[in-house]
Amino acid sequence: MKDELFDQKGLEVFIKRDDLIHPIVAGNKWRKLKEYLLIAQNQEKKGIVTFGGAYSNHIFALGYICKELQIPLDIIIRGEELSIHSNSYLSTLHQWGNHLHFISRKDYREKRIPKEIYYENKLIIPEGGFSEVGVRSMIELVKELNESFDYIVLAVGTGTTLIGIAQALPSVRLCGILSLQNKKEIEKHIKIAGIKADKIKLFEQFIEKKYGKKNTELEEFCIHFNNKFKIPIEPIYTGLMVRSFYELVNKDYFPSGSKILLYHSGGVK
Ligand SMILES: *Cc1c(COP(=O)(O)O)cnc(C)c1O
Repeated sequence: MKDELFDQKGLEVFIKRDDLIHPIVAGNKWRKLKEYLLIAQNQEKKGIVTFGGAYSNHIFALGYICKELQIPLDIIIRGEELSIHSNSYLSTLHQWGNHLHFISRKDYREKRIPKEIYYENKLIIPEGGFSEVGVRSMIELVKELNESFDYIVLAVGTGTTLIGIAQALPSVRLCGILSLQNKKEIEKHIKIAGIKADKIKLFEQFIEKKYGKKNTELEEFCIHFNNKFKIPIEPIYTGLMVRSFYELVNKDYFPSGSKILLYHSGGVK
């Protein structure tokens, strides 16, 4: 990526475009879900059960795949007050033939599967695809990188992508830009995965106050960036990541001479 600022700071900046994998099943979601689908196929599962929030990219991507492959999917959604009419993602998922179940926040926290779901012989995929399976799926991403980088900058939700890259590529420094106030949880996940944390830096100072709500300034940044580089980004994950990256560059966080990869995890739909 060519930018006067990067030249001025002596940085070489690249971007890995996983948003180009598919228009709906974008980026890291496809990488994670592919591994789970192979397991479902090998174990001859009769369907899939998963969890997610009402705006989750994970349930949307999985819902689309299950429609295409005609796999029965039960989606357990946080918030009993919601319905298939609450937002366009939920109504689309319903139209695609997926079964949506709305449960209370308390039951959701305990990952309770509602009684009406018959889940024997179905594959259960955790929220956001976070598990060893999801983590392992990032090996393929790393294999596609033909060069080595000093830093990789990426957006963090559950931390699956971050941990997966860290495991497959222990030598690189990772800058994880958090979208949610879940730094403690991510740190716990890193520890459980047995990863040395000294190469990973988690940034929580860029988190937007209102997750998923309109933020004109950040939206304008996304539009401006898209106009300049012809790369679409969105405010929740990748836009926040790119804007935070520019702030770090401006603050001279990266030493001159660094080679940096931005990971575009998708999510533009
Ligand atoms: C889900 C998602 C993330 C977060 O990925 P994790 O592996 O859960 O940390 C980042 N970017 C986009 C576009 C996503 O949809």
